[in-house]
Amino acid sequence: MINTNETLKDAGLKVTNPRTKILDVLQSNPGMHLSADEIHIKLVDHNESIGLATVYRVLTQLELAGLIQKNQFSDNQSSYEIKKQHHDHLICTKCGKIIEFMDNNLEALQEEISDKYQFRLDSHVMTLFGVCKDGNCKK
Ligand SMILES: [Zn+2]
Ligand SMILES: [Zn+2]
Repeated sequence: MINTNETLKDAGLKVTNPRTKILDVLQSNPGMHLSADEIHIKLVDHNESIGLATVYRVLTQLELAGLIQKNQFSDNQSSYEIKKQHHDHLICTKCGKIIEFMDNNLEALQEEISDKYQFRLDSHVMTLFGVCKDGNCKK
């Protein structure tokens, strides 16, 4: 288990209860991409009295500190995950399942395209929308 307090300190953040608890939620759900609302519900389930506004504020702080990644998969909601190795996403528009992938050819191709336009590539967002293999979704 990762030590949340050490992680915060290493990132130069003061250890506060909301920061610890919110980072804990994301660390204990490693494959998940959670919205601020979903994180808030998990905190309430654990009897934490942390308001939604605080959740949003802390998420911004954790993102700026490089501890979490914010994804914009839809117009109306961002989702957050623990920062790990770079990856891209496939999203099922029927059930909402999110599949993470990383493809070296695709990464290299983006570099090539940038080079071609003499463009310095700093980052990219690759999100593929479609329907997953689940029987209920394919119908
Ligand atoms: Zn699906
Ligand atoms: Zn992800």
